[in-house]
Amino acid sequence: MTKYEAVIGLEVHVELMTERKITCYCKNEFGAEPNVNTCPICLGMPGALPMLNRQVLEFAIKAGLACHCEIAPYAQMERKNYFYPDLPKAYQITQGQHPLCIGGYLDIETRAGKKRVRLNRIHIEEDAGKLIHLEGEGTLVDLNRAGVPLIEIVTEPDLSSPEEVDAFLRKIRAMVQYTGVSDGRMDRGSMRCDVNLSIRPAGTEELGTRTEMKNLNSFNFVTKALEHEYQRQVEILESGGVIEQETRRFDSATGTSSSLRSKEDATDYRYFPDPDLVPILVSPEEVAAIRATIPRLPDVRIEEYVERWELPEYDANLLTNDIRIADFFEAAAVHTNYPKIAANLIIADLLPGLAEEGDVPLAPEQLSVLSDLLGTEEINSNTGRKVFKAMISSQDPIDPLAYVEEHQLKQINDPEILAGYVEEALAASAKAVKDYRRGKEAALRSIIGQVMRATSGRANPILTEEMIKDKIAALPEPE
Ligand code: ADP
Ligand code: MG
Ligand code: ZN
Repeated sequence: MTKYEAVIGLEVHVELMTERKITCYCKNEFGAEPNVNTCPICLGMPGALPMLNRQVLEFAIKAGLACHCEIAPYAQMERKNYFYPDLPKAYQITQGQHPLCIGGYLDIETRAGKKRVRLNRIHIEEDAGKLIHLEGEGTLVDLNRAGVPLIEIVTEPDLSSPEEVDAFLRKIRAMVQYTGVSDGRMDRGSMRCDVNLSIRPAGTEELGTRTEMKNLNSFNFVTKALEHEYQRQVEILESGGVIEQETRRFDSATGTSSSLRSKEDATDYRYFPDPDLVPILVSPEEVAAIRATIPRLPDVRIEEYVERWELPEYDANLLTNDIRIADFFEAAAVHTNYPKIAANLIIADLLPGLAEEGDVPLAPEQLSVLSDLLGTEEINSNTGRKVFKAMISSQDPIDPLAYVEEHQLKQINDPEILAGYVEEALAASAKAVKDYRRGKEAALRSIIGQVMRATSGRANPILTEEMIKDKIAALPEPE
């Protein structure tokens, strides 16, 4: 596995949440009745004339600035010619030679640390329609999506593992959500990813031949597709074969891929400037005005969390990936003396089950109070997580203080009260005590477990452990 390293570059398509499509006045909305949002322009009728939507430019520039791109003073729309039933004009309006945003980078955070991923460009283009294949009955065409504005974010081949790719995609999603240019939802196709992967002997520089897998629409599929393709290429090289440059289709149901077509060259598309769309000249003043509308972005927040709340960078990154969580955490952190506890609760129990859409299911004040209860040891960590889970799933807001009182969950910190439970547990654990004294550390756990059960989980676990150890140490020497 370590003989070859993976080299990965991405092309990420993001649908922009503009009110209208890219070159016509049709509504840009998700989930409408098929073909209601269409007109002669986006249906590609002969003679129809497109006009570039100004809001598309604003959104794309905003995303570009957030990703540290240079905004090109001169950009141009081009036609990319190919025939497919979801593209009635038989060409896609996109950008080739003169993209709107040039270069740029995003920093990602993985368990291995921080990494800068360079962008090659971000350009604007139109989406194609949607084909709906009906088993045995044919194919339906829905052109509501034809002409929906996209940005395509193209990276340099700087990524080297599925984990990095996952972190990068989450960062992109954060950027488009923070700037409000897209909802970034992969489950709705608002964000889709083409992955290019090649392998080379570890430690060498020269790039191998790459393959491309198109239109992956979940984080999970991206990871699976990369793992599978890496393995496939290793096996080919190991058995003396050569990798063909090609586009492959990843089948998420079987977890395997198959060749779709050998890679087409740019010349096959016969790119040329769209004569109906004038060149785009963006002035520095316009760029500055758009820059002024960009809110506090994840990287700034990560730095703040590390400095002000003393969080590890990795945790700060997890909290800032979703703007709802970042805002929620900040609102909770200012009202508790234990922001780290608040962060840990969010990461362990709120993030994993959070729906893609909708509000965070509890108020930040509830988390502040709970964090204080934990920080002052009024409840122990197990109880804390139980209360937190209850707060998350309850329809009616739960007041953590009242809840702890009502369910009698307060931690027992009083040694005098604990002593009775410890005595009882020791008396019932002759064998465990013996084992522990012979050096079997694990035996201690079972004794602590007994105290926990007897107190319904309320005993202070650290104090309990100390008391048990002291008691055992005070026993007469075993023969
Ligand atoms: P095209 O536009 O023909 O798809 P590009 O050269 O623009 O080709 O590259 C597309 C993507 O492929 C980029 O994200 C780039 O980083 C990536 N890429 C290019 N060469 C390689 C390679 N040898 N291995 C992995 N990824 C690559
Ligand atoms: Mg490509
Ligand atoms: Zn239209």
